Amino acid sequence: MRESGHRVLQLEGGEPFMATPGFVKEAMRAALDANQTRYAPSSGVPQLLEALRAKLAHKNAVEVTTNDIIVTSGGAHGLFCAFQASVSPGDEVMFFAPYWTPIQDQVRFSGGVPVRVPWDDIRGGSGDAMRAALESRHTPRTRVIYVNTPANPSGDMLTREQLTAVADFAKEHDLTVIADEAYEDLIYDGEHVSIASLPGMPERTLTVYTFSKSFSMTGWRIGYVVAPPPFMEFLRKLVLNTVNGVSTPTQYAALAAVTHDPHFFDSIREEYRRRRDLLVDGFRNAGFDCLTPPGAFYAFPDVRKRLGGDSWKAMETLLERTEIASVPGIVFGPEGEGHLRMSFSTSMEILEEAVAALGKL
Ligand code: PLP
Repeated sequence: MRESGHRVLQLEGGEPFMATPGFVKEAMRAALDANQTRYAPSSGVPQLLEALRAKLAHKNAVEVTTNDIIVTSGGAHGLFCAFQASVSPGDEVMFFAPYWTPIQDQVRFSGGVPVRVPWDDIRGGSGDAMRAALESRHTPRTRVIYVNTPANPSGDMLTREQLTAVADFAKEHDLTVIADEAYEDLIYDGEHVSIASLPGMPERTLTVYTFSKSFSMTGWRIGYVVAPPPFMEFLRKLVLNTVNGVSTPTQYAALAAVTHDPHFFDSIREEYRRRRDLLVDGFRNAGFDCLTPPGAFYAFPDVRKRLGGDSWKAMETLLERTEIASVPGIVFGPEGEGHLRMSFSTSMEILEEAVAALGKL
């Protein structure tokens, strides 16, 4: 469309709108000047592991030692290793749907069987409703629950009560939890709770974090996994034999990020909130049903009333008539059908143009 002279309002991506902060780039330059360019220990440079330990204790209420943390090549690699370390062929893995697309593939790649639990069954519900949703899908082969809060693609979040219900269920049935906290810093309503901070959970939880979304470091490829000893042994072998450690200067850049003043996020969150409110109000005013996402940076409007139930067709219609690019909800599982995912992580100008363009529908 661009080549034929159209402008495209690109809301289909999944990247923070700001550039990587200057203090992170500075740390990378300093690491290069100091010749921090050789192999690092494959699990991570000790200074970074220690800074991550302190961050986990302070911010996530997760008390671990540096031996329980491993640096990975982004959250995607961390998740890959987490599924490989905890899922055996035939194990059933429960996750909430719509889900981030690679999750189902990663479950399958580890030999697992995906079991979807619709967000619609638990959104805004009690701990009892969560328990009922999990119980009704539990079988003797259930092994793992994957929990992503805040969630991609819907921006949904789980409350402390809901996470406590997941934790109690996991303990009762001796299940492992893989927690994906990629969006832990992008929260506009409510609190972020790390499930590994709940009693009895550190020993059965693998938590995956990334620098991608918090620090606009998507292209740097760095994240980390926190896991107890039996899983950590596997994780070490997986990291060693897949990437043999993350780029050394990148780890020093990540050290600068994680030790930076946490108030750094205050203004960023406000920027995201303004963008979220603009896009969500715009869709509502144009006659769409659109929940207000409490976290992450995606709106997930229900487009059935205005664009029909086929989300591929809806995506094309929206693109043709308004030049707004989006992602069809069906790619996030059948529960996403009838929706479109749009990122509000872009400039206010583009969002204003997009909202105005909705008038052409
Ligand atoms: N988890 C979720 C839910 C995501 O949306 C993403 C990226 O889009 C990731 C993990 C992994 O991000 P990265 O591999 O850039 O760290």
